[in-house]
Amino acid sequence: METAAAPTTAPHVLVVPFPAQGHTLPLLDFAGLLATRGLRLTVVTSPANLPLLSPLLAAHPGAVRPLTLPFPSNSSIPPGLESTRGCPPEYFPVFIHALTALREPVRAWARSRPSSDDDPIVAVVADFFCGWAQPLARELGAVGLVFSPSGVLGAAVPHSLFRRLVRRPAAAAEGGDKESFVVTFPAIPGEPAYQWREVSMVYRWYAEGREEDEQVRELVRQNFLWNLHDSWGFVFNSFKALEGRYLEQPLEDLGFRRAWAVGPVAPDADAAGARGGEAAVAAASLGAWLDPFPEGSVVYVSFGSQAVLTPAVAAALAEALERSAVPFVWVVSAGSSGVVPETFEARAAEAGRGMVVRGWAPQLATLRHPAVGWFMTHCGWNSVLEAAAAGVPMLAWPMTADQFVNARLLVDEARVAVPACAWGFGVAPDPGELATVLADAVGEKGRDVRARAKELAAEAARAVKPGGSSYADLDGLVQEIRNVH
Ligand code: UDP
Repeated sequence: METAAAPTTAPHVLVVPFPAQGHTLPLLDFAGLLATRGLRLTVVTSPANLPLLSPLLAAHPGAVRPLTLPFPSNSSIPPGLESTRGCPPEYFPVFIHALTALREPVRAWARSRPSSDDDPIVAVVADFFCGWAQPLARELGAVGLVFSPSGVLGAAVPHSLFRRLVRRPAAAAEGGDKESFVVTFPAIPGEPAYQWREVSMVYRWYAEGREEDEQVRELVRQNFLWNLHDSWGFVFNSFKALEGRYLEQPLEDLGFRRAWAVGPVAPDADAAGARGGEAAVAAASLGAWLDPFPEGSVVYVSFGSQAVLTPAVAAALAEALERSAVPFVWVVSAGSSGVVPETFEARAAEAGRGMVVRGWAPQLATLRHPAVGWFMTHCGWNSVLEAAAAGVPMLAWPMTADQFVNARLLVDEARVAVPACAWGFGVAPDPGELATVLADAVGEKGRDVRARAKELAAEAARAVKPGGSSYADLDGLVQEIRNVH
């Protein structure tokens, strides 16, 4: 990896991640890009999350330092739990609230640094769930940047909801169907509309939460308003060929002052080593297992670091995989470990046709293996960008968060995905139909989407090279940070 010496006069940036894999990983990737461009970084973390920083610290010795603070104690979070990995979605607002308590210790650290006069913090880059860092940046005389682990559209939707305070009408007494309530977004290009269940869970939690949570709910809303009102702008892990449409219009319509699209930020698989923690199977072993399969014939199945499948959904998926006879790698996250039907795994292994990975998989490397032709995914934004960069089309199966918004973008606009099944909010799909979707994808019917995915990968690769849009946005941003100095 390219490393740049960061002289002590290099501008100093404070980085504030949110402790969920899907949030921390891309922000650390972005931090690596800043370090490569010669900036010095201090990354806020807590004892249990410190190991996630190891690859970044090793790649940029001297330029990147951790600031390890105790995880804020909070009555809703069990002691020792410092990350949302494997937690149900309701934990996100709780963590957003808990982390606001970091504002004081981070301020105290910044103020007490003996070198703060000749080595000031010039910029604070904080995850969009750490909005408190934006007013803190101001207090420190620094510029605040919001890092969005979602795409431009995926971030515009929740920020719009928190600005507008959209409420779902109470079910009409006669025949009203609360579930079919549709939210429209007239200020977003294309004026998208989503069912209530398809929009940000954090917003729905806010809008329909309990009265006794009033204080926490207001803080969660404030988090998003701080992003909008106190920041310099938003940094997106996205690129213009994918989401240019949302960046071209006057950005104020989306509520963003400024935007930089610098993605895909994930490193090449080779440099990724221990990205996200120790893998349950080494990239080399998984690669060796994949080697004998023809190009593009294997489906990689993974629903990210948070999703927990119900036994009924897992059974339908297992049956579909078996019926379709399509080779597969199925990553079963720690939270879902009990749901794989008994004997399924042994049968798949015996047939030499499928592998079940329990725990953490080396996703970047796997997506880039030539045998992998499709990715059945929950459409978490990192998975989306990693598949886009690898030229792997997607079988979209959104479940929560920004995933429905992402899935629609991929299927309807980018045309690099097809729906895996009817998006049923936890309802098990029909195994026969799902088997047909799988078989069609790897067959003739999937050809156009496969070709479009290859085109998008070429566009993603161009974006991050000199002369590309993401390269230019990153350059411009680094220059502006240097000018603050
Ligand atoms: N990931 C991984 N191995 C796994 C599961 C996830 O490396 O077994 C990585 C994946 O490559 C991505 C991130 O974890 O970078 C998950 O983020 P995403 O936005 O896709 O989904 P989330 O976990 O936030 O739902």
